[in-house]
Amino acid sequence: MTDLCDKVAANVDTVRERIRSAGADPASVRLVAVTKGFGPSVVEAVLAAGVVDVAESYAQELEAKAAVVSGPRWHFVGRLQTNKVRRLVPLVELWQSIDRPALARELAHRAPGTRALVQVNVAAEAGKGGCDPDDVAVLVDQLRRSAIDVAGLMAVGGMGPPEQARPGFRLLAKLADRLELVERSMGMSGDLEVAVEEGSTMVRIGRALFGERPSPSPGAGEARRLPTN
Ligand SMILES: *Cc1c(COP(=O)(O)O)cnc(C)c1O
Repeated sequence: MTDLCDKVAANVDTVRERIRSAGADPASVRLVAVTKGFGPSVVEAVLAAGVVDVAESYAQELEAKAAVVSGPRWHFVGRLQTNKVRRLVPLVELWQSIDRPALARELAHRAPGTRALVQVNVAAEAGKGGCDPDDVAVLVDQLRRSAIDVAGLMAVGGMGPPEQARPGFRLLAKLADRLELVERSMGMSGDLEVAVEEGSTMVRIGRALFGERPSPSPGAGEARRLPTN
């Protein structure tokens, strides 16, 4: 456990240094630790390193970890089914992946006043989460009218080399400017420098903090068991 804590603390420093090298004050870019695929000990380790924002991609994993670890400010960053919203409401402080009207309605119904980001599919990748850039304004308006606190926009950069994510990140920042939204959640382990250069206010980091995920990652679905490490 101590080894894990030391390793994670060192990795947190390295990530903050990467943010600084990309030209931002690390204190002004929120570091969100993505713990999907890892067990509760990793959440404890990142908390011990002073990171309080922790994100999960699967409802069941978030619930399982929240049941045994207290202290994180939980973010939900994965594909979200409307029928999962209700049980996540007591746990989630920032919904990062709101991407369609039905989900916006369910959130407004179950968690009036909660904070959310609208996820935008800036890379126009089929089968990926996020609404079409052309639909962002309408969705943001719907959320605002239903008393959801829309804090900003979120995007996933895509699979290619980091530089390939730049146009999408730039588009996200432009959309956020236009809608007067402060938060731009963009940048992951592989492309955080490009995201910071394009004005990220929040990076979501998994592998650069914890190493490769031990269990089958995205797409593995809800059914898999919570890893025990
Ligand atoms: C897994 C995931 C991350 C973290 O990705 P890493 O490459 O491990 O840093 C960030 N955002 C979302 C939406 C994710 O699903």
